[in-house]
Formats: sequence, structure tokens, C-alpha cells
Amino acid sequence: MTLNARAVHACQNSPSQIFQPETIAARAGVETDPTHGAVMPPIYLSSNYTFDGYKGKRQYDYTRSGNPTRDVVGQAIADLEGGFGAVLTSSGMAALDLLFHCVKPGELIFAPHDCYGGTYRLLRHKADLGFYRVKFVNQTDLTALAKAFAEEAPRLILIETPSNPLLRLTDVAAVCALARQAGTLIAADNTFLSPVLQRPLSLGADLVIHSTTKYLNGHSDVVGGALVSKTEEHHRFFSWWANCIGNAGSPFDSYLTLRGLRTLGVRIRQQEASALSIARFLQAHPLVETVYYPGLETHPNHALACQQQSGFGAMISFELAGGEAELIQLLDHLHLFSLAESLGGVESLIAHPATMTHAAMDEQARAVAGISNQLLRLSIGLEAVEDLLADLTQALDAIQAASLQGEMTPVGAQSDSQLCAV
Ligand SMILES: *Cc1c(COP(=O)(O)O)cnc(C)c1O
Repeated sequence: MTLNARAVHACQNSPSQIFQPETIAARAGVETDPTHGAVMPPIYLSSNYTFDGYKGKRQYDYTRSGNPTRDVVGQAIADLEGGFGAVLTSSGMAALDLLFHCVKPGELIFAPHDCYGGTYRLLRHKADLGFYRVKFVNQTDLTALAKAFAEEAPRLILIETPSNPLLRLTDVAAVCALARQAGTLIAADNTFLSPVLQRPLSLGADLVIHSTTKYLNGHSDVVGGALVSKTEEHHRFFSWWANCIGNAGSPFDSYLTLRGLRTLGVRIRQQEASALSIARFLQAHPLVETVYYPGLETHPNHALACQQQSGFGAMISFELAGGEAELIQLLDHLHLFSLAESLGGVESLIAHPATMTHAAMDEQARAVAGISNQLLRLSIGLEAVEDLLADLTQALDAIQAASLQGEMTPVGAQSDSQLCAV
């Protein structure tokens, strides 16, 4: 997959070439230090910059409005997505909130019915305050979506694919075609795949959102976000608002994110290869009922994944056979999968969506969304895949051993205070 002409900005030395994502990530900001000729771009922590005399404003004056370190990362992410520019924000939620500044009171936003929980909360509560109106639509059902467009075309549609935690896919090009006809702006949350595996702007979107907390930084040590614009006009608009409301990412977080971004391509390809092996292993295991991974030929959207993605990613969900006792056995026996939220880091994680990432949904809403109490979500990290498979094998064996010994006594439900409300 080739990148558009903006890609050359990441690589000062060969301006005539168009580069692959790995090249953009490795070369972003390299050899741009005019003072000492540092190979790697230095970190600029300063909050303010001197004027070069009376009326002598330089490129930067104050870090809320602009910062050299943050700008290198923003340009790198924009180049990776094939956009004009990107605003780096203090979190993925801050990027989404910034995005919704393009919608005026009374205007409508379409969002996926199974969007990220934080996105749902933001839209719901700001709609209640009158910032905009919002409608949650099942975007995987193109007939239902077309009907919703026919009733009232929104100002903005937010796409999120693959969905969390069941990894359902939305046909981005088809949704963009519908939205384009209606004059609707199109934004896509590309957090789950990263621009290495999916580039929504090339499928017709105008804007891309990232929680850089996840794959782009990739080391679980930064919370950050990005809003990529395809056009200069949109980038100027969102940069202006980011300065106005003051939600830009910090220089130190930007520096860490740039360091993480350097290895994005090799990280996600390796994580994806491990994920496919693990998905196949789980699918063949008698204690696993259903595996949700778009890379499996049995996944209902496998063909769409092959068409609009250049890989399947490293997120897997699966239903464990049995009940809560089996869940507890598995979680207690896993050593290489940390029980934690978030995703996309070098370390493998396991999450129980019903009590963790999706605890804010009531039981009925979870049932409608298809999130059962036996559902578990894995974020595959960079540990050796044989170690990860061995860890899963011994933890699943422990369930079998316990059930043979008749140790499976159901444990009472967790109290609400233990539930995380993300
Ligand atoms: C995590 C996440 C967000 C929110 O990002 P934060 O950095 O946690 O604020 C938004 N969208 C998706 C798909 C996410 O996974």
C-alpha cells in the first residue's frame, strides 16, 4: 500500500519518494536539528519561546499552541494515515471531544451502537447538555444505516471498526459512499488497527481518530490521542480549537509516543502473527466455545477484513465454556496475560468486558450487544508465541483438572465497588 505525497515530509533526505509506513515511522524528524545536527529530534520541554525582538514571533511562542516535539509526532501520524496534519491531544477522548467541535448545537452525529464506552458516555452526556444531537446506529447493517440517512442526514458520522470487544467490521467504503452523498463529514476511529493495517482516509473518510495510548505508542506508558485531517482546512480548524480549549498532548508524552511509533510496523506485524496462532489454538480447544478474530476464515466479516484491511490485528475475543468458576480458574492460572484494561502494548493482556471495559452498560444492554459473562478479550503482546500458547494451555488444563476433582464451586458475584466504570 502506498502513501500519498505528504509522506515525504517524514523523510527530509529523499523528498521525491513515497514511503512505506515502516520508513515514515523510522525516519520521522531524523536529521532536523539545526543547532547540533542531532540525528534524533531533541525533546523541547519549554512552555514558552522568545520573540526575536519587537513583533518578532518565531514559529513557536507557547507550547499550548505549538511545540516542536509534538509537531514531529503529529506530522508522522498524519503521514502514516495519508492526511495533511494531525493534532496531538492529551488522550483519545480529548481527540474525540475536539472532533465534535465541528458539530453545532441542533446538528446531528451518527455513532456506532457498539462504540467505545467512553465515546458513548461523552456523546450521551454532551448531547444532554445541548452541544449536539446524537443517534447510535448499527453501522454493520447498511440497510438500517441508509434508512437513518434518509430520515435525517447527520453533520458527522463516526465509524469505529473493528468493534470492541466482538471485533465486528464495518464496511468503511460503503458507509463513506452513503455519507458523501448526504454531505456528511466522515471520521473513523482507527485505534484497533493503526495505519499499518487500515487507512480510513484512503477508503473515503475525512478524519481519523486515534487513542495513541494503544498501538501507536504501544508501550502502555502514555495516555494520548490524535485527530488526523485529510485537508489543510480541517487541520487548521482543529488546531485552532485545540489551542483554544487547551487539550494538546504534552511534549514528554509526545517524545515517548514518537519513540514508540518508530517500531509500530514490526510490533503490530509480530503481534498479529502471534494472534493468528492463538486464535487458531483457542478455536480448536474443547473449553472454548466461540472465537472472535477477523483473521479466522470462520469470522463472518473475514472477506471484508481482507478487502479493507492489510492485516487482522492482534485483538481476540472468545467465550469460555462453563461459568464463573471456570473464568476464575483461567484468570488465576494465567501468568503471561495481565488482567487489565487498555490494549496494544508490548505486554499481553486479558480483560473481562462484562465487569471491566463494558461494566458501565447494564446487563440488558450487554445482552443486546452480545457481550456475555463468559466473554474474554485478549490483547496479544510481544512475548514469544510459544510461551503465550503454553501459558494458555496450562491455564485451560487447570480448569479441566479442577472440574475432574469436583472443585468447581460457583463463587458469588462481585460487588459493584469492584467493577471498573470505564
Ligand atoms: C481507548 C480508546 C479510546 C479512548 O482513548 P483514551 O486514550 O483512553 O482516552 C477511544 N477509542 C477507542 C477505540 C479506544 O480503544
